[in-house]
Amino acid sequence: MRHWLAASSEELAAFAAEAGQPAFRAKQLRDWLHAKRVDGFAAMSNLPPAFRESLAEHGRLRALRELGRKDAADKLTSKWLWEAADGGLIESVLIIEKQLSRRTVCVSSMIGCPLACAFCATGAGGFERNVSAGEIIEQVYAIDAHARTRGGGAGVSHVVFMGMGEPLLNFDNVLAALNTLRDPAGMGLSGRHLTLSTAGVPDGIRALADSGVNCRLAVSLHAANQKTRERLMPCAKTWPLTALFPALELFAAGSSRDITFEYCLIDSVNASRADARELVALLRPFRCKVNLIPLNPVPGVSFSAPPAAAVRAFQEALEAAGISAPVRMEKGAEIGAACGQLRAGKK
Ligand code: SAH
Repeated sequence: MRHWLAASSEELAAFAAEAGQPAFRAKQLRDWLHAKRVDGFAAMSNLPPAFRESLAEHGRLRALRELGRKDAADKLTSKWLWEAADGGLIESVLIIEKQLSRRTVCVSSMIGCPLACAFCATGAGGFERNVSAGEIIEQVYAIDAHARTRGGGAGVSHVVFMGMGEPLLNFDNVLAALNTLRDPAGMGLSGRHLTLSTAGVPDGIRALADSGVNCRLAVSLHAANQKTRERLMPCAKTWPLTALFPALELFAAGSSRDITFEYCLIDSVNASRADARELVALLRPFRCKVNLIPLNPVPGVSFSAPPAAAVRAFQEALEAAGISAPVRMEKGAEIGAACGQLRAGKK
């Protein structure tokens, strides 16, 4: 069944025209969907009853049911578990950063993930299905409504595609969701406030560059060495660094924003001084930033984070070469909401 939140302005206009409605109805409908965000057709009081009935017949307004929410002790990180209409389970996270005045939603673009990175809880559970555009938008709208009841009425300011799944392998749904989240009639988020994180799918990166969305791009690199990367991310065999970097160069050339690389530090795997040197050599030609993430523990995964001194040494090696490399301290680990922990203990 179609999800009305996923319909573009053009699709709404076409539907209204087919239903014999004047063009302004599509605009009214869009307002109910994305500005007022009502969850029932009956609330769309300025639309004729017959049109409302037709809308109800042809699609839905909501597909997710909140199964539960966990708040971290400091209440700054919360994790949601949603049940989709087909019973699929989807997780999202809200991270409030008071000093930066940011309220970031981390959305899932898939249920499970086919990429099976060796250190990630999502991949360990296999792939179920893509999350639809409507389900992505719904995660943001529901959490935006929640955020407004907290922190002085301010809603979500940033959306990151860093939950479960590989967004560039669910390209059409993710692009539709990004475009809707940018729409001034709804969230009105600028590309600067939208970040897509990818394991590095070259064709997807090119398509994203072509789309004109102008969002931020984060790339999960985790190793500058092809062999080590393949050990951590089996998808690196299909998309080697030699194919990834030309796509990134193309993206960077067409974007006003620096690329962010994510580098998960794992003891005795990718965190030595030699690894840092290799990373510097690879990234030197790039305008970029590296987020260093000491590995978050995942049940059943034997890797561990390096000692703090090794993390510092790695960071210093990058910064000495002029590459900004903040260490991302885990947020939400206690509620299983940290990077790579989604889906752990969910079932
Ligand atoms: N598939 C996309 C989106 C997932 S985002 C991608 O790979 O970028 C989730 C981020 O958390 C990725 O950078 C991922 O590599 C990282 N991650 C996964 N498991 C982790 C763990 N146990 N500790 C720290 N980061 C992890």
